Amino acid sequence: MERVGIFGGTFGPPHMGHVRAAEAFLREMNPEGCENPLHLLVMPTATPPHKQKAEGDTAEARLRMCRAAFGHLADAEVSDYEISRGGISYTVLTLEHFTREDRELWLLCGSDMFLTLDRWYRAEDILRMARIAGISRGTEEFALLDRKRAEYEERTGRRVLLLKNEPFPLSSTEIRRRIAAGEDMDGLLPEGVEEIIRRERLYEIG
Ligand code: ATP
Repeated sequence: MERVGIFGGTFGPPHMGHVRAAEAFLREMNPEGCENPLHLLVMPTATPPHKQKAEGDTAEARLRMCRAAFGHLADAEVSDYEISRGGISYTVLTLEHFTREDRELWLLCGSDMFLTLDRWYRAEDILRMARIAGISRGTEEFALLDRKRAEYEERTGRRVLLLKNEPFPLSSTEIRRRIAAGEDMDGLLPEGVEEIIRRERLYEIG
């Protein structure tokens, strides 16, 4: 059985919290010597043009920044599927696209997404099509995540994974705020991402 993971988000911009999350997930799924490594697709969402303008980036720049952020990971790849498709990026439609008989799909979610997953468009179908892996952002109690994990397991009859990572509490919103305020990035961004932001003067609004 082939294993494919999807890590979706706006990634405007991708930051070290995202990178650490992907690394922790791959470490858990692909231990040393693993014969059937999971392949992780990092999937930046399409966004409407008015939102891009408000946030100070473009879909194309988010794709390039993701490639710079996750390029060092052997079992990961940045997918332009949602951006190329355009429109609203519903996770369920992406899962339908990547579903195969002989493939196990995984969805990696930070804790905010993990806690609200059951309210997403066609949540039942999402929970049926993909195995869920939640990862703490360090912003909520682990016990709360664990209760949600138990709830999803009861609903789906399948194990739901909650990663035991060292949380890296950070958001793209905080990064955009720092850039607009001219503050230092202090290792919060992968080097290649910081270079693109600086060169293309992204997010310099506020
Ligand atoms: P914004 O501040 O613009 O809302 P964000 O930092 O929440 O952005 P997204 O692109 O919305 O980032 O997140 C993509 C995915 O990465 C989501 O599943 C989110 O929960 C997860 N994620 C974001 N930041 C972290 C973090 N620091 N640690 C673990 N997971 C994270």
